[in-house]
Amino acid sequence: MAVFINDTCINCGACIDECPVEAIVDEDDNPTGEELYYVYPDKCVECVDHHDEPACATACPTEGCITWDTKFDDAGQDFFNGANYVDGKDFVMEDSDARPAQRDDVSDEDRSGRANIVD
Ligand code: SF4
Ligand code: SF4
Repeated sequence: MAVFINDTCINCGACIDECPVEAIVDEDDNPTGEELYYVYPDKCVECVDHHDEPACATACPTEGCITWDTKFDDAGQDFFNGANYVDGKDFVMEDSDARPAQRDDVSDEDRSGRANIVD
């Protein structure tokens, strides 16, 4: 959903203050329990109306760490509201009715394949 931080994250903190909507949390607040930074899919607006491309990915020093992810839609909401989250954790989004802005010029292939945002 939105953009995704993968396990190559080195917890450097370069991305978090770049986010215009405070969608990123650090490893201490990651709801998955993983020791990485995390993007809330219901908060991230893919920097639409803020920047030409996702500012977090531009700032990140780790190549391929922040990628595209699938759109946040009804299926995504069902997924995140259920007990179907990472490692079976129950997880309830802070705003379960959220439908954040998303970029239409990103292909489904790039989203599902978690393609790099920055080459
Ligand atoms: S793409 Fe933009 S809105 Fe989304 S997490 Fe990155 S900086 Fe925040
Ligand atoms: S800038 Fe990249 S490596 Fe640094 S904390 Fe953010 S996602 Fe992790």
